[in-house]
Amino acid sequence: MLKPMAKDYYEILGIQRGASAEDIKKAYRKLSKEHHPDKHKGDASAERRFKEVNQAYEVLSNPQKKQMYDQFGEAGGASGAGQGGSGGFQGFDFSNMGQGGFGDLGDLFEGFFGGGGRGRATRQEGRDLETELTIDFMDAVTGAKREVGIRTLSTCDHCDGSGAERGSAVKTCAECSGTGQVTRSAQSIFGTVQQRTICGTCRGSGKIPEKKCSKCDGEGRVSVSKKVTANIPAGISDGQSLKLQGQGEAGRRGTAAGDLYIRIHVRSDPRFEREGDAIHCTVEIPALDAILGTTLSVPTVHGDVSLKIPEGTQPNQVFRIKGKGMPILSTSRSGDHYVTVQVKVPTRLSKQERKILEEWKRESDK
Ligand SMILES: [Zn+2]
Ligand SMILES: [Zn+2]
Repeated sequence: MLKPMAKDYYEILGIQRGASAEDIKKAYRKLSKEHHPDKHKGDASAERRFKEVNQAYEVLSNPQKKQMYDQFGEAGGASGAGQGGSGGFQGFDFSNMGQGGFGDLGDLFEGFFGGGGRGRATRQEGRDLETELTIDFMDAVTGAKREVGIRTLSTCDHCDGSGAERGSAVKTCAECSGTGQVTRSAQSIFGTVQQRTICGTCRGSGKIPEKKCSKCDGEGRVSVSKKVTANIPAGISDGQSLKLQGQGEAGRRGTAAGDLYIRIHVRSDPRFEREGDAIHCTVEIPALDAILGTTLSVPTVHGDVSLKIPEGTQPNQVFRIKGKGMPILSTSRSGDHYVTVQVKVPTRLSKQERKILEEWKRESDK
């Protein structure tokens, strides 16, 4: 059910999200040297790697593109019209970061290695969520505000997330003396192993509410259905995701909340065909209008625009209306609108029309 996942630029460069500009440059230098085509003559996969590395660096080394990529999973212009080569990058698939993504991985590690910092963090903090939202074509042109309903864990309003009943104190966990971890001995085929695991009593927090909150049973968060507002920017593309920081699951007992990703689907519009920031449409005009010239009213995403068709226009001739295409994300500019003119030849002529046209033919044959 998931689209093939687009390559993650950070992954390509082998760096963490949040890596410094210096680290990005370093990783790029190393990899571009490693995969340089001169070193791997005729090796198609090395060449592909080299291109990927360059593409990733082009985006991550440009602060503006990087910011866009971090926010929307797509760099400005990377999927633009007719750019060839680098096109086709249709947004980064965030779904692997959603429910059960990193969370389950953490639990898995915990099972194998008896927990530790990472497992503890995963268990306490709220998870990222992903949801989907479908908007109309024109919403993508103008931008839109939409409410999205999600089911999630939200901070308990009875205890403000502490997990302790109102008026009751929070004490240090006796089981682990507040460290959040306990050491256990277990028998295995290798003999007795000492295992450090998360304390089951306080679940790693090191604290126990003297009396658990009656509403959330000490979790500090409760399951709710809530509405969040998505501010959809003008120019968004089908398949891009919006990130709403801190709007994912609330953390346990007041720890950090996860993020919410809203994947946007854009409905098509029969009048327009979108290609990046360009919009294409087709109009049909009578042959005589193509011959003599005329003025047309052409629908664009910014409203009807008057287009002058010059004398002697050819079938399938394309006219460009500047700045009347799709708004370009995070700018106040728009792409262009392209009109393809189709010429309709009459299938029937009246006697009078025929007479005039034959006269014209004689005139042009002279
Ligand atoms: Zn509570
Ligand atoms: Zn404990």
